Amino acid sequence: MNIGFLGTGLMGEPMAQRLLAANLAVTVYNRTPSKVASLAKAGAAIANSPAELIRTSDCIILMLSDAIAISEVLLSEASQAQLAGRTVISMSTISPTQSRDISDRILAASAEYLEAPVLGSIPEAKTGNLIVMVGSTPQQFQQWQGLLQHLGSEPRYIGTVGMAAALKLALNQLIASLTTAFSLSLGLVERYGVDTEAFMQILRTSALYATTFDKKLSRMLEGNYDNPNFPTKHLLKDTKLFLSEAETLGLQSQSLDGVRQILEQAIALGLADADYSALFAAVNPPTLKG
Ligand code: NAP
Repeated sequence: MNIGFLGTGLMGEPMAQRLLAANLAVTVYNRTPSKVASLAKAGAAIANSPAELIRTSDCIILMLSDAIAISEVLLSEASQAQLAGRTVISMSTISPTQSRDISDRILAASAEYLEAPVLGSIPEAKTGNLIVMVGSTPQQFQQWQGLLQHLGSEPRYIGTVGMAAALKLALNQLIASLTTAFSLSLGLVERYGVDTEAFMQILRTSALYATTFDKKLSRMLEGNYDNPNFPTKHLLKDTKLFLSEAETLGLQSQSLDGVRQILEQAIALGLADADYSALFAAVNPPTLKG
């Protein structure tokens, strides 16, 4: 079986490496060609266009930024013409509504579609420890879980298309909201000169603690947002996707809209491609300190 991998960015590159390490036949395509060099060295075939990749693949895995990228790469006229008989597995974070729309368009091109968004970041992608959440038919899950196990050892069947995308957005809403809430408390503690470690020690023993706080603490204290695992711009994308779904569903999401504004401020500070812990720089701007 030939696997095609579209989108070899921060997550796609290590995920495609996992498939190559399992001796699978993998063809890759990325808009910016330099990002496939390491995969070519590891034995991947390189496609010159998405349509060429689709033509030579039985299954196409997507790890593109968003629904716009998926539309441009997979649903262009040239790409659609090659889709018949193939299976597309979208692992990007997109909304349930977008996923269902893409599914409809892929089914109309006589191909199959599964959504399989992931929780975890570059370290988990490298070691095959992503949490893979699948939205598909039960039969499709049975058919493709062996492949997905190379990326995360226990893929979880969530339900029909849209349901895994909804679960993934629910988790990312927590990333955005928890990080903003933690940044705000850390900012207050810092400005009052309270010992940060005392704050953390008490927090760690309380029910309020989440491990993500310690994961991001040193970056925040040092103001070091380089070499991102998950960039601020993608967390803003996911926050906007959640807000759009919340509006449709009648959920009151004003608190998340505040988080969105903080994320927009981080982007305005030039931190779009920085690690999302840069939320702290927006919550606690240097010019207003002390
Ligand atoms: P990334 O490094 O920004 O990679 C995005 C990929 O999409 C790149 O291959 C990029 O190509 C491609 N792309 C974007 N727009 C395109 C367009 N219009 N046409 C063609 N290609 C386009 O992002 P990532 O961190 O790997 O994330 C990929 C997806 O996984 C996103 O949906 C993200 O939310 C999700 N995700 C990320 C993480 C994480 O920790 N990073 C974790 C879970 C899920 P170029 O290289 O040419 O720009």
